[in-house]
Amino acid sequence: MRATVMYSAGDVRIENVPDARLIEPTDALVRVTRACICGSDLWPYKAMEPSETGIIMGHEAIGVVDSVGADVRHIKAGDFVVMPFAWSDGTCEFCHEGLQTSCVHGGFFGNAEIAGAQAEAVRVPLADGTLYALQGGKDEALTASLLTLSDVMGTGHHAAVAAKVAPGRTVAVVGDGAVGLCGVIAARRLGAEQIIIMGRHQDRIALAGEFGATDVVSERGEEAVERVRELTGGFGVHSVLECVGTEQSMHTSVSIVRAGGAVGRVGVPHYEAIPLAQPTFYSNVTVSGGPAPVRAYIEELLPDVLEGRIEPGRVFDRVVGLEEVPDGYRAMNDREALKVMVRP
Ligand SMILES: [Zn+2]
Repeated sequence: MRATVMYSAGDVRIENVPDARLIEPTDALVRVTRACICGSDLWPYKAMEPSETGIIMGHEAIGVVDSVGADVRHIKAGDFVVMPFAWSDGTCEFCHEGLQTSCVHGGFFGNAEIAGAQAEAVRVPLADGTLYALQGGKDEALTASLLTLSDVMGTGHHAAVAAKVAPGRTVAVVGDGAVGLCGVIAARRLGAEQIIIMGRHQDRIALAGEFGATDVVSERGEEAVERVRELTGGFGVHSVLECVGTEQSMHTSVSIVRAGGAVGRVGVPHYEAIPLAQPTFYSNVTVSGGPAPVRAYIEELLPDVLEGRIEPGRVFDRVVGLEEVPDGYRAMNDREALKVMVRP
């Protein structure tokens, strides 16, 4: 089958690889109908150490189940499914708590151990716990939104939950990528009164406005902190959704949260320590977040997607075939594309 293999920073190839197949009796084999390139794929794209075997990339997909192993009870061939970016058994202590990304038997797609979904097909471990079977979903716009439930919409929602967004609260979203924009949707959905998008890319800011952002801060560093204070009566916001993962974005995040507020971080941290330990201590700031248990959120978000109350699929601004995936990486890395959908 054809699949996306990354060999080192900037080196993404589409190659023939051995067909994905069932290995464990709890596996499902899924024919990928849509996948995507994620902002987090850009970290290895920028910095991956050379690998001789390469890594089959991709952790977001929807598709049709081709076949299942002998021990799979609920998922069946022909099901139209969402594949969350993490696989999980659905039965352990953490899965029961709705924290599937800490599943004691789980893991993540698209690494040296488990092949990713930017491919014609993908092997899904622990299919009953991992996959979410959908009804119908043939409509193209709806398909795009359903695809976001595999990562970015669930991740934006997780940032909002971790940042304790609630009706009437003030919110800042740090990062205008797909997750940040889904964070705006999530904040609005949870009843935030003021939503400040922090970004400088015109198209993204415009989309954030359509998703519910009320204010824009395009400055950076200290100037950005000042602007947010001005917009919030001098105190900062109740909730910060940190959707980038750099030291600077985290520094900004803990600088704009008000006393007693919360920062929900979902950008994979590329810093050693959370900045401003003393000021955040003295102002009773909560810092929370991590890899979103998107499997747990599908049930909550799905009705809003199906009934058109939220349209996270609008974050996709480019669709490519599998052979054009390397150019999709380049376009996202150059910030020429916001989010790339892959149609194998
Ligand atoms: Zn589990």
